[in-house]
Amino acid sequence: MDCIFCKIIAAEIPCFRLYEDEDTLAFMDINPASEGHALVIPKEHFPDVHVVSDAAIASTVVTAKKIASAINKTLNPDGMNLLQCNGPAAAQSVLHFHMHVLPRRDGDELKLNWGLAPGDMDAIGELAERIRENL
Ligand code: AMP
Repeated sequence: MDCIFCKIIAAEIPCFRLYEDEDTLAFMDINPASEGHALVIPKEHFPDVHVVSDAAIASTVVTAKKIASAINKTLNPDGMNLLQCNGPAAAQSVLHFHMHVLPRRDGDELKLNWGLAPGDMDAIGELAERIRENL
């Protein structure tokens, strides 16, 4: 299947991996909307919330909580959004169900549909290591 997240799960393309269990995978977003932006996905492929299984969404949320906690310890942000997008108007760009874990800073003015801009890969890799230490 031509799905970039399925390829990440299959280790056909690299990622800054944070956590993995039988059902889910968490990794850093390479176009971070904020410092520490991470993604959590079910290993089973579902395009969006309308078709994801109850088991897959449940395990994804549990992993997102774990990742949010580790990011909180690592970065001590002022807030955090857990966000999930479906369809073009919601700016869904990858059709594999996923949750964004978005650390927030006071006054960062982050809006929905924030657009994709590549981050600094060295900084993202270094941050992934720090977050993993807090899992
Ligand atoms: P969405 O716009 O809600 O579909 O979010 C998809 C997210 O996946 C975006 O924030 C992208 O930056 C991110 N993304 C796409 N390809 C990769 C990749 N290879 N590694 C990490 N994050 C990715």
